[in-house]
Amino acid sequence: MKMKILMVTSESLPFVKTGGLGDVSFSLTKALNKLGIQVDLILPLYGFINIKDTKKIGEFNIFMGKKFPVELFSKKISGIRFIFVSSPVHFNRKGVYGEAKEYKDNWERFGIFSKAAADFANREKYHILHANDWQSALSLLYLRKMKSPVSRFFTIHNISYQGNFPAWTSRPLGLEEEFHPEGVEFFGKLSFLKAGIVYSEIITTVSPTHSREILTPEFGFGMEGILRKRRNDLFGVLNGIDTEVWNPKNDPLIRCSYSTENLSGKEKCKEELIKKAKIKFSPLIAMISRIAPQKGFDLLIKSLEKILALRISMIILGRGENSMLGKLKEWEKKNQQAMRVFNVFDEELAHQIIAGADIYLMPSKFEPCGLTQMYALRYGTVPVVRAVGGLNDTVDDFKFERYQSEALAETLGRAVKTFRNDKKKWENLIKKGMSRDFSWLKSAGEYVKLYQISMIRRRLWNL
Ligand code: ADP
Repeated sequence: MKMKILMVTSESLPFVKTGGLGDVSFSLTKALNKLGIQVDLILPLYGFINIKDTKKIGEFNIFMGKKFPVELFSKKISGIRFIFVSSPVHFNRKGVYGEAKEYKDNWERFGIFSKAAADFANREKYHILHANDWQSALSLLYLRKMKSPVSRFFTIHNISYQGNFPAWTSRPLGLEEEFHPEGVEFFGKLSFLKAGIVYSEIITTVSPTHSREILTPEFGFGMEGILRKRRNDLFGVLNGIDTEVWNPKNDPLIRCSYSTENLSGKEKCKEELIKKAKIKFSPLIAMISRIAPQKGFDLLIKSLEKILALRISMIILGRGENSMLGKLKEWEKKNQQAMRVFNVFDEELAHQIIAGADIYLMPSKFEPCGLTQMYALRYGTVPVVRAVGGLNDTVDDFKFERYQSEALAETLGRAVKTFRNDKKKWENLIKKGMSRDFSWLKSAGEYVKLYQISMIRRRLWNL
């Protein structure tokens, strides 16, 4: 019998991506299907998603204080069966989430999405519903409430985003019965993320190191207590990367291809990037990231004086918080030949920077897995990282522990020195990184094993 999984997510390529979740939902689903299990992917039909020739496959009336009609459409794309949940009043907006007023009803938007996913999984007799992050976590609780035989699997991609809403939302969400400290209540609020943790058979997060970190107050964001209770059901599975999309041998988004046998293409990529960024000094140090406290931008800003004194060039591609962005722009203004900040979301530029840079910097405060350091390794760009979460699990050479500018500057300084003084060693570092295997094959296999455990538990726990 073929295992049948419904992957529930608020983001997936090729339609919607604000961060790593968009990459991972798509590439993991692809990898699992290649392993011979059937994984379909369900996501909201955001207003900006433009698809033709979809098939209507159902409709549900969902009660959330009042009745909302929801329609489901499906289409096979890139070998995956996508299912779209359409509720124009909730999803026909410019963006995806955001802090703006227009997203004040996120509890209702993702409550409805989660309920539709649960109804669909139950109706179609999926073996497992695999929910991802807070936006889809309630689907697990709704399955339980309908006493569904579908097994409940939850992955935490970022524990700092929890979907915590005012207590009164428990009523329209139909969760008054579960609104208590052993259920969905979290310091007086209703927490979607906590529902995922409490009501799933298996919980995973996206790297082994992070699965241990989130049991501590430093990294647990208040969920450490409830996670410790469930530590025997918690696993860390390292994310893989899409090695078809991220392949320096054959990447349509960069002008020159290269491999470990012939690195000259990387030099050309670097020249192009220097021209584009109009910077002067070498090595080129790059960051591609949401500009958020998580990613260590406060530490970077504190360290910039020391870093720029190394006479290097710094390229940052990122969108995010204006206060940090403003400070980075000030530094850029004062150091025109050494620093460039691209404040856009640009997939093509991301590939060009990963290919053309020498060093990739990731001084994260916390990092559940992180994808860009793996892209960097694959493109022969040497990462310098803080030893947390997935960064600790994927990077061997230049990493620092303390969240302090001395530690960052010292480690980056060592990398710059090696780049300048020991060409042979640098080339070996490049080649070693490029030879690493970050494909999904191994990790997707781990998910299959955990899916099997999840299904067995559903049956046993039901007894
Ligand atoms: P997170 O999910 O915490 O944002 P990850 O490293 O897991 O961090 O994933 C981030 C993804 O978003 C990567 O694929 C990265 O290339 C991409 N990304 C982030 N910012 C930008 C940007 N400004 N332009 C293009 N891609 C970006």
